Amino acid sequence: MVPVIALVGRPNVGKSTMFNRLTKSRDAIVAEYSGLTRDRQYGEAKWQGRTYILIDTGGLSGDEEGIDAKMAEQSLQAIEEADAVLFLVDSRDGLTPTDQMIGEHLRKRNKRCFVLANKVDTVDPEIARAEFSPLGLGDALPVSAAHGRGIQAMLEAALGVF
Ligand code: GDP
Ligand code: MG
Repeated sequence: MVPVIALVGRPNVGKSTMFNRLTKSRDAIVAEYSGLTRDRQYGEAKWQGRTYILIDTGGLSGDEEGIDAKMAEQSLQAIEEADAVLFLVDSRDGLTPTDQMIGEHLRKRNKRCFVLANKVDTVDPEIARAEFSPLGLGDALPVSAAHGRGIQAMLEAALGVF
């Protein structure tokens, strides 16, 4: 069985940057603009010689209407498809109400889930870890998708069980 891993989180937290780093492809559109990756995007990646499937999503903004509602639907479907979810949050922004909402959904769905405190190049990793503990989804793993920090430890945690 090839594990399926979904990247979820609100727009601009760094999902597509992480997708590109892990799949080593440029297929997902990495935007300077909020929510440009509208649809789910599948990529094949390898960890310790084993293949897994990664899903990038357009993000969950918290007040979905129109195109945003479609993006939300894609994200919710990706969560259902996934064996594990990488829930990205932004260490620089800190915990937001939308993060809380997504966290609540993941807790309800009882999905295997890892909180990734991304952009940890911008803040102290210990502060980032403490910031997201109210999500109640375990210790956040400090990562930097853009600079490649914390990636191996994160993959070990997320893929080690498969
Ligand atoms: P998405 O909307 O969640 O897919 O986010 P993107 O991957 O498009 O990234 C949004 C913005 O955050 C871009 O300007 C990225 O360059 C930036 N970004 C992503 N990861 C990091 C990171 O680890 N550190 C910093 N400082 N910026 C990042
Ligand atoms: Mg994106």
